[in-house]
Amino acid sequence: MAATPVQPPPLPEVVFFRDQFVPYSEAKVSVLCHGLNYGTGCFEGIRGYWSTAKEEMFILKMAAHFERIHQSARILHMSIKYSVKEMCELALELVRRNKFREDIYIRPLLFMGDERIGVRLHGLTTEFTMFAVPMGDYIATKGIRCSLSSWRRIDDNAVPARAKITGAYINSALAKTEAHNKGFDEAIFLNADGHVSEGSAMNLFMVREGRLVTPAVNHNILEGVTRKAEMNIAQLEFGEPVEERSIDRTEMYICDELFLCGTGAQIAPVIDVDNRPVGGTGVIGPMTRKIMDVYNRAVHGEDARFSDWLTPVYRA
Ligand code: PMP
Repeated sequence: MAATPVQPPPLPEVVFFRDQFVPYSEAKVSVLCHGLNYGTGCFEGIRGYWSTAKEEMFILKMAAHFERIHQSARILHMSIKYSVKEMCELALELVRRNKFREDIYIRPLLFMGDERIGVRLHGLTTEFTMFAVPMGDYIATKGIRCSLSSWRRIDDNAVPARAKITGAYINSALAKTEAHNKGFDEAIFLNADGHVSEGSAMNLFMVREGRLVTPAVNHNILEGVTRKAEMNIAQLEFGEPVEERSIDRTEMYICDELFLCGTGAQIAPVIDVDNRPVGGTGVIGPMTRKIMDVYNRAVHGEDARFSDWLTPVYRA
């Protein structure tokens, strides 16, 4: 039987490159590009949700992402021409020029654009580019199966996970492919000291004794925008702050509920870790369901409590 042809991912029409909006085909870098050779760059992933009911695109937590790219850039000694506010305006203009009317993913990227050999961060030129592609509003409801990675999470004193560094994603890629090759959906990293850190591109939350717990920011995690959003939801819905602390591997094996979250993945309930059904039964728990439900409504502009998370694109 003939295999079903795989559709290539959609490409953007207009991108922001070298200080102007240009057709996608004109945004090209050299094979000598420093960022390409050494992974000297940092980036963001921002979602835009199209609301058919409101005929409007809402960009989620836009300023928080551009603030984080500025922080990543500070860690990498990069100089940026554009303020957070200017980046926000460019993102809105990018979406308008592409006339998107569906869910999208915006990718701002800072990279060392110099065409030269030599590993370092000083004396180089920071370039800024940004593109957006359609991305479905997929919220996993079935639950995913995870395995602990044999790869340890990068350490703050080696490659800082707090910065969203392009080259650092080889750590995530190794873990993700290992999990895939073992038949799992996603990987969970331990730190070098053996405590739980995060997924390949998602933060981690568990429920123990009715309380949400997540690794603290000094556990080699990316300080996720969605992580903060979930903490915000949890406080409002459950009336208690999320506990930020170390999580042992076996504590995760015996927790009551577990989920991963991030801009791309949104909220991914975990039903099994290393062949141990979460909560003993492997069903999605009530706190996870509640958070998924509130998050889903919030990002679509259907919960006024979270309206400040959203920036409308087309409204004048
Ligand atoms: N951790 C890592 C390693 C990530 O790549 C991401 C995705 N950006 C996250 C966590 C989640 O971060 P956010 O909620 O800001 O997308």
